[in-house]
Amino acid sequence: MKHLKNYINGAWVAGTSDPLVVHNPATGEIIASVPKISTEGVSAAVEDADRAFRLWSKETADTRSKYLRRLYELILENEQELATTITLEQGKPLKEALGEIRYGASFVAWYSEEAKRISGEIIPASDKNKRIMVLKQPIGVVAAITPWNFPFAMITRKIAPALAAGCTVIVKPASQTPISAIKIMELVEKAGFPKGVVNLVTGEASSIGKALLGNKKVKKITFTGSTEVGKELYRNSADHVKRISLELGGHAPFIVFDDGDLQESINGALSSKFRNCGQACISSNRFYVHENILPRFVKGLIHKLKSLRQGNGLTSDTDLGPLIDRKAYQKVEEHVSDALSKGAKLEYQGEAPKIDGDSKSGYYYPPTILSGIQPHMKIYSEETFGPVIPIMAFTEEGDVVSMANDSDYGLAAYLYTRDLSRGVRVSEALEYGIVGLNDGAPSAAQAPFGGFKESGIGREGGHFGIEPFLETKYISIGL
Ligand code: ADP
Repeated sequence: MKHLKNYINGAWVAGTSDPLVVHNPATGEIIASVPKISTEGVSAAVEDADRAFRLWSKETADTRSKYLRRLYELILENEQELATTITLEQGKPLKEALGEIRYGASFVAWYSEEAKRISGEIIPASDKNKRIMVLKQPIGVVAAITPWNFPFAMITRKIAPALAAGCTVIVKPASQTPISAIKIMELVEKAGFPKGVVNLVTGEASSIGKALLGNKKVKKITFTGSTEVGKELYRNSADHVKRISLELGGHAPFIVFDDGDLQESINGALSSKFRNCGQACISSNRFYVHENILPRFVKGLIHKLKSLRQGNGLTSDTDLGPLIDRKAYQKVEEHVSDALSKGAKLEYQGEAPKIDGDSKSGYYYPPTILSGIQPHMKIYSEETFGPVIPIMAFTEEGDVVSMANDSDYGLAAYLYTRDLSRGVRVSEALEYGIVGLNDGAPSAAQAPFGGFKESGIGREGGHFGIEPFLETKYISIGL
């Protein structure tokens, strides 16, 4: 077993004798251990990042851009190894892992350019002898807390804009998937970033969280993860009025009108639902299908699902991997059995590779389609995070929009229609931060990613994604 290290102030720091172990979710094998950092260790890392901030924030935009560009090139040069790491610790099929690396790299490329476009304003004053100058300045030390479902891209999506803005960063990856984060640090080191600009700490989430939130020198928290933990961080950030960005859970409606392209909607359903085995915050969770086309939609989906191969992600023809752990598997099972006990119909269930009841690995949940879904079923309002398509029939546009909006979440929504007016009308009415209109894969580095309502605060991606790392300063100049 490899004993991996934290990366703090440009040095690799070993842990104590009580490390966290990392499992391969496809086999249960222990693949590595990472340190459990102490509270004092976190404080020291914040001091280092704060010291580094004084120099990094003064670098020219051009210099920051070049470091990011070098990091981008290194990611692409090492993409196969990075993708294999994701599959080993997270379970998604290798081809998807490679997609995640390229997606993650695209943020580094985008923000290496965006670093050069941070500019202020000169505003005409009301007094002849005054000038009004507005500057954008980096916020300071940023703590980035990231989830296990996209262990590579959720880090680059946060650190690239922070570094471009002139902030320094402390990354706290999910305990299940810290190895991808360590690989990023190896490339950060190779790219030659000055010491203390990017740091990585691993260990017990709540104590690291407390140490980061309780430290005045941490000026901003950027978090992707569960709504529950996000709310806790939001509450605890109040003491120092820390800036906070939250990318939380979702419960995406997927609406298919009877004037939609059936085949396209089936393809969209597959990509929005089965990417990462349904373990994505923008994964579609409730399918509203017009009653006129419901039987054809289900038949077309079943046809596609029959050809999906589920297994170890390292095997080249695997389409669907395992769920991350037993808890995740039990939640999916619970949502399906709850729906069935309340009258849903099982339209289809594939065959998953068998697991041993006591196994700590290989939690393969088979692709499943349910119809007759009702609002009182858990699956209708709770995030499933698994490969299940729960379907409800509808007839009226107005009704389906109301049902789609009846959620505490507001991250992503999808709709399929060939009627342009309806497409625009319904997209505008949906209370969601991201709408896929005839598009089942809406994420892109240049676009704003984030949610309405309890799905979060702020946006990542594009020029929107750099603002949260900047303060606005106004200088009033008397001549
Ligand atoms: P998930 O349900 O996807 O595991 P979590 O919200 O539990 O989502 O985890 C997302 C990230 O937040 C992980 O890095 C996790 O370790 C971290 N985390 C969990 N609890 C806390 C906490 N109390 N304080 C700070 N970070 C936490």
